[in-house]
Amino acid sequence: MMTMLDGTPVQQFVDALEKVVGAAPRPVVLHEPEFGDNEQRYVADCITSGWVSSAGKYLDQFEARIAEFTGARHAIVVSSGTAALHAALLIAGVTPGDEVLIPALTFVASANSAVHCGAVPHFIDSADDTLGVCPDALDAYLRDALEPAGDGFRNRKTGRRVAAIVPMHTFGHPVRMERLIEVAGRYKITVVEDAAESLGSSIHGRHTGTFGVMGTLSFNGNKIVTTGGGGAILTDDAKLAEALRKLTTTAKRPHRWEFIHDQVSYNYRMPNLNAALGCAQFDKLPRMLEQKRLLANRYIQAFGQFAAGYCVVEPAGTRSNYWLNAFKLALPDRGLRDAMLEASYNAGFHCRPAWELMHRLPMFVDAPRAPLPVAERLADSIINLPSSPKLAGQNTPNG
Ligand SMILES: *Cc1c(COP(=O)(O)O)cnc(C)c1O
Repeated sequence: MMTMLDGTPVQQFVDALEKVVGAAPRPVVLHEPEFGDNEQRYVADCITSGWVSSAGKYLDQFEARIAEFTGARHAIVVSSGTAALHAALLIAGVTPGDEVLIPALTFVASANSAVHCGAVPHFIDSADDTLGVCPDALDAYLRDALEPAGDGFRNRKTGRRVAAIVPMHTFGHPVRMERLIEVAGRYKITVVEDAAESLGSSIHGRHTGTFGVMGTLSFNGNKIVTTGGGGAILTDDAKLAEALRKLTTTAKRPHRWEFIHDQVSYNYRMPNLNAALGCAQFDKLPRMLEQKRLLANRYIQAFGQFAAGYCVVEPAGTRSNYWLNAFKLALPDRGLRDAMLEASYNAGFHCRPAWELMHRLPMFVDAPRAPLPVAERLADSIINLPSSPKLAGQNTPNG
């Protein structure tokens, strides 16, 4: 008799996908945005009223809703997640010649944002369970790699100050932030969380992106909430919020008619049009998060009796938004990974591997780095699975 576990690992992989998302029309893409009546209404309202650009009620509403949802005191919306990271690192005091600790396993924007500040990314390893920075491995590494210098610590080898760390909550799974904050504090390293993928994820009930001095979100088209393109910076510090607002809005002094700018800064503002889309997306965020959880549970079950691998689950004590479901091979095997990707594409399921590790990208091959054994294994083991909320079922109102 045929059971689901017959056949090669590649065939079993495709069968499991078939079982969970096989009812959806092909191709089943990795992550699709979902728009309904409110998106149409709010965006049309911007156009009708003429408020399409850098000011408007949706900008104020969107910032208030982000702050309320995450529990951050301040949310500053900007034009992209990359812009959010860049501005946050500048306000964190990252200056040219500094180093910034960045996971080797991340999207390239985390590393680019350090370079945009004139700093050098210094790549660090991941934990096998959270997929993000491992605070214990980091602690052991920094003990040897850094030495005190002035009021901070510097890299023994390069002599550069290590100014900041950017933990990233991979695919929505939270990093062990409480412990990481403690380790970073010991070395006077400022923590800026890259929470681009983890809107809706929390640790012991506290939202990701609110543990560091600042945290950043992305509203790119593939994220759980999209504004077309956009991002936000979270902080509890009123002074930092004010500085962020100034830096991202060309440092214009508030005045009814005068145009006086008192520092060189950026035009990183989010347009009201995009914020309107964001408000409509927030209307359905709780429902989308429920659907993602449902879908994740189906994947976890479907791959549950699989010998070749399993699905990544939220770390203990955390709640993940399951932005992207991730299948992980029990043993790293790039050949098997690629065969699974090939077969699933052929069957109409658009899976994808994790990002190429940062230290293997041409612009970063010479950057300083810790030993990266876990990240290297993860890169050869992970396959992201189609994760659009609607794949959990169409029987929910399209609010
Ligand atoms: C999406 C994302 C960003 C930001 O990307 P933008 O396209 O600039 O909004 C940053 N870091 C990570 C890890 C991301 O996934």
